[in-house]
Amino acid sequence: MDFNDTAEEAKFRAEARAFLAANCAPKGSDKERLSRRLSTDEYVKAAKAYQKKKAEAGFAGITWAKEQGGRGLPPIYAVIFNQEEAKFDAPSQPFAIGLGMCVPTVIAFSDDATKDRYVAKALRGEEIWCQLFSEPGAGSDVAASKTKAVRDGDDWVINGQKVWTTGAHFCDFGIVLVRTNPDVEKHKGLTMFIVDMKAPGVEVRPIHQASGGREFNEVYFTDVRVPDKNRLGEPGMGWNVALVTLMNERLAVGGSTGPDYAEIFELARNMPGPTGQGTLAQDEAFRQKLADWIVKAEGYKLSKFRTMTALSRGQTPGPESSIGKVINANHLMDICNTAIESMDHYGIINDGELAPMEAAFHQGYMWAPGLRIAGGTDEILKNIIAERVLGLPQDVRVDKGVAFKDLPSGR
Ligand SMILES: Cc1cc2nc3c(=O)[nH]c(=O)nc-3n(C[C@H](O)[C@H](O)[C@H](O)COP(=O)(O)OP(=O)(O)OC[C@H]3O[C@@H](n4cnc5c(N)ncnc54)[C@H](O)[C@@H]3O)c2cc1C
Repeated sequence: MDFNDTAEEAKFRAEARAFLAANCAPKGSDKERLSRRLSTDEYVKAAKAYQKKKAEAGFAGITWAKEQGGRGLPPIYAVIFNQEEAKFDAPSQPFAIGLGMCVPTVIAFSDDATKDRYVAKALRGEEIWCQLFSEPGAGSDVAASKTKAVRDGDDWVINGQKVWTTGAHFCDFGIVLVRTNPDVEKHKGLTMFIVDMKAPGVEVRPIHQASGGREFNEVYFTDVRVPDKNRLGEPGMGWNVALVTLMNERLAVGGSTGPDYAEIFELARNMPGPTGQGTLAQDEAFRQKLADWIVKAEGYKLSKFRTMTALSRGQTPGPESSIGKVINANHLMDICNTAIESMDHYGIINDGELAPMEAAFHQGYMWAPGLRIAGGTDEILKNIIAERVLGLPQDVRVDKGVAFKDLPSGR
């Protein structure tokens, strides 16, 4: 494994670094932002402005084809840009789902007219997208979706409910997975559509989080008309379309957001130790934990290098991304938990303006369980690792060969 950039990669990295230095604050320099809620209007506005600059500078859609406004570069260049961007406080969160998962699905499954309508606007940050897959009874088992669409002339009419839709309240469009045929097995009767989030009959209701944030929503569909030209893939082939989105999702949510060992080390250097002698950073037990976190973070970094090597050789990354997500979410939770405990009663402060550092750990602690669920729960990812890496027997599938309408259901 060669960790060094080629000459072209090094040149690209330098260009990326120069762009980021000119347009973003270095990571951690803005502690207030680390703890600020990511769903505010102000943050979305900043994200749109940043995305526009990224597109103009050629750092948006790095791997996308030139016809789609991208740069047509191999995936390794996107990895390099992401590595550099992670060193800055870049307001890129509102675009992660749309550009990371939804729009690539639109590109893969729609005609030129549809691509012309949506892709460039998304890339330039003018329109934001969300992913409408999960339902109250269909999360890990997303193929159990019940929201249905019925054909009516040139339109389809959608009725049902989605849940946990990140960013639906500020999004313009979404990709929605619905049931169009209940008479076949659950994976075979689904279809995917592009839906206008401002269309009549779409109702977005916020879910307020324990942290005080408002990133997620319930979305209700009542007789929402979607033209057939907004269909992605053939009717009944929605599961195959969803798989393309989900494959991108595991990679996209692999990275951690929130304080890491550098931030807790900084905190510990400025706090008294548990015995009242010296700082927390000098405490033996704390130092052991710190060493563990550094080893874990380095291990994760090396596992990402393995993904990079596969990408640079034109291969598809394997299950390393699942491993990364399981490790990262728990790593964040552990660090924030220790920080909150160490800060004693200051640990409960959750006000970014009053105490940015304390609030950053508080927010990280509240966010980490979500990270353990989004894009596949710990248990689901461990199942994937067990089955596809270790070759253990498959999970039990009692619904195999049964039509969706005949599956027992409490709802
Ligand atoms: C931060 C965040 C953002 C999200 N954003 C979106 C979004 O934008 N769009 C969207 O569509 N969805 C989104 N979701 C929803 C997310 O995809 C689901 O919550 C997730 O897939 C889990 O589904 P569930 O909540 O229905 O839990 P369930 O599937 O009901 O699982 C409950 C528990 O049972 C376990 N379990 C389930 N099946 C198995 C099994 N076979 N073996 C072992 N254990 C199992 C799970 O691991 C979990 O611990 C988001 C969720 C979070 C937390």
